[in-house]
Amino acid sequence: MSRQAIYAINDLRLDNESLILNESIFHNANGYIGVRSNFEEGYQEGYDSIRGSYINGFYDDAEMKQAEKLCGMIEEKQTILNVVDTQTILLYLDDEIFHMHEGAVLESSRWVDMEEGYTGRRIVWRSPKGKEVEIVIRRMTSFVQATLFTIEYSVKALNFDGEITFISKHEGAVKNYSNPDDPRVAAKSFQHLIPAGVEYIDGASYVTTDTSKSNLRVCTAVKHVLLKGKDERTERDISGHGAVEKIYTKITKDVTITLIKYTIFCDSIRYQDCKKHAAAELGKALEVPIQIQYDNQKAYLTNFWDQSALEIDGDHHLSLAVRYNLYQLVQSVGKDEHGNIAAKGLSGEGYEGHYFWDTEMYIQPFFVLTNPEISKNLISYRYMTLEGARENARICGHKKGALYPWRTIKGSECSGYFVSGTAQYHINGDIAYAIAAYYLATKDLQFMAEKGAEIIFETARLWMDTGNYYKGKFRINEVTGPDEYTCMVNNNYYTNVCAQYNFHWAVKIYRMLEEQGMLGLLAEKIGITKEEVAGFEQAENNMYLPYDEDLGINPQDDSFLEKPGWDIQGTPKEHFPLLLHYHPLYLYRHQVCKQADTVLAHFIFEDAQDIKTIRRSFEYYEKVTTHDSSLSTCIYSIVASKLGLHDKAYEYFGDSAKLDLCNTHHNTKDGIHTANMGGTYMTIVYGFGGLRLKETGLFLSPALPKKWNGYKFKVNYEGTHIQVEVNKKACILSLVSGEAKEIYLYGEKRVLEEDISVFY
Ligand code: BGC
Repeated sequence: MSRQAIYAINDLRLDNESLILNESIFHNANGYIGVRSNFEEGYQEGYDSIRGSYINGFYDDAEMKQAEKLCGMIEEKQTILNVVDTQTILLYLDDEIFHMHEGAVLESSRWVDMEEGYTGRRIVWRSPKGKEVEIVIRRMTSFVQATLFTIEYSVKALNFDGEITFISKHEGAVKNYSNPDDPRVAAKSFQHLIPAGVEYIDGASYVTTDTSKSNLRVCTAVKHVLLKGKDERTERDISGHGAVEKIYTKITKDVTITLIKYTIFCDSIRYQDCKKHAAAELGKALEVPIQIQYDNQKAYLTNFWDQSALEIDGDHHLSLAVRYNLYQLVQSVGKDEHGNIAAKGLSGEGYEGHYFWDTEMYIQPFFVLTNPEISKNLISYRYMTLEGARENARICGHKKGALYPWRTIKGSECSGYFVSGTAQYHINGDIAYAIAAYYLATKDLQFMAEKGAEIIFETARLWMDTGNYYKGKFRINEVTGPDEYTCMVNNNYYTNVCAQYNFHWAVKIYRMLEEQGMLGLLAEKIGITKEEVAGFEQAENNMYLPYDEDLGINPQDDSFLEKPGWDIQGTPKEHFPLLLHYHPLYLYRHQVCKQADTVLAHFIFEDAQDIKTIRRSFEYYEKVTTHDSSLSTCIYSIVASKLGLHDKAYEYFGDSAKLDLCNTHHNTKDGIHTANMGGTYMTIVYGFGGLRLKETGLFLSPALPKKWNGYKFKVNYEGTHIQVEVNKKACILSLVSGEAKEIYLYGEKRVLEEDISVFY
């Protein structure tokens, strides 16, 4: 089986659309910092570009004026900041400047090496006066030293002797990108960072800036190291709010000269004195030759790939796309509790760096099975922001409980349009679901006692305060489900079933902790009682789940089936996504879904309905869903797999896998779609592999897509590593490490001790 490591393009296209897209596709990130892939030398005048560098969780507060000041409307949001520009390196060959739009580009390629953990760019260029050079640029954001970003810029003279000059910049006066016509990015660009100092210390430049409102600070340090230079000299300058370094050196034919530019990023959320810390981090980076950093990077990734060990034999293009998607997940996910995983990771400014339910329902399933530590961190972030969720609940009128914000960075609500934002109360149930999944995979009761249980109790309390009994059934009115084309409805099936599960786990965890004598402190802290828990249980048992007898399906909500349909086939192609072409009210009045909603519920709560209902629902909702959201096709693929619709499952999987590399949603320039990337993983492991984590155990029922010769993956279940291998003849389960486990294979209980093979 192949483990494809390199995604490359031979890129001679210099049109603006390709360039701005490749800024996202080839960005570097490590969960702490992210740098878009802009050309060091810049583009041609008039080109649109998002030249950005970001820190996970680092934000400024920004005004979000509401036209009508209704009670509780949010008037301030957080926005991720473009913190600095250290990408610029201009190259002169004697008096001629290297630029892709001048002279002749003889060869050009870009790639991302997903095993070594860097991006590369190689150009062979002839200057207008005939000098030829080969330029190779390697960029890395280190997974091992998270503050470090490096650019290694090598120049080989192919047909001349002369002088070359590098002009390298460290610019603090940067702004965020904006587009007033697209609701998915910020409408206005504002100078969020205020200069607080530029200086040189021991040959390194330090640029410090303060945020305009959030009272945060960031310091970046840059230092250059020249390898194989001759008669070199350096001039250093401070200009405006930046530093410029000119490095001159002689070069001779066939010799390669390399400039290494080290950048350190430090922010005041994590480091009290960020300048001092930046200096220490810079010292640490320079202590060893860069090759050691590269070796460390590779070792980190070897371990990462080994944890999921996902390999596919067949369909080269899609399997490479899968690898690319998983790589982006490790690039994007925060490795400490100050950062989570943004909808666009650290690759761009779409959705302003906000964290959504994407984390819990689309990305956690990957980390829960392959890296429980990261999974735990993501939950810890929610725990850290629990107080914010309590405040949000009070703003929304609730006397008790916590309501997680629909989109946020530091923990308070940042959604300006509550109808398809704050009203998505299901985020509470999603977070509870992810915590339960973490517990099911790890049985880490200690963590539940410390953090998980408190979140589950507080979210359950919120449901109690939101819903009400009517004719003996517990109902939840005026919420929005996952489908953002149907808003403010009563009894959204997905929401109700999520709330039911949230209650279920509140009761279960309460009893487990009580039994183990681990409840005391928490019960005292939040005052949870047996009576209250009995109320949760009653609501769980009496939850209203809409069902339509005539169609034999679960209606998406109480009024969904009453609405007229939408002619999806007859809608002009250029009118998708519908949200950019139709007034929201017009959309809300139709049976048209932006994304999987009830079908998602059928995946994660599959035991809530029988298979016939799920099949009818799938067929029904498939016809009314546009998949305008990137969170949709992966779910349809998984449920199609469950229903044995293998070709359909593969088709939806393909749509999900190639979404960013083929820019099928036409907005990858604003950043990658991390939820969909987690979704691609799910289509394989939960879809083709049929994996489910349930209270009754771990279930697997793998099937092999026709186009593949085989695939395998590894999961970590209660500390035991299990490998699943599927080929044309058999499905083989092996115990890679850890204790023997009972599992369910194709519905049958088996003990996994030695390999189990099932031949078809
Ligand atoms: C989707 C949401 C999602 C958000 C961020 C929207 O288009 O409808 O479900 O959370 O994007 O990815």
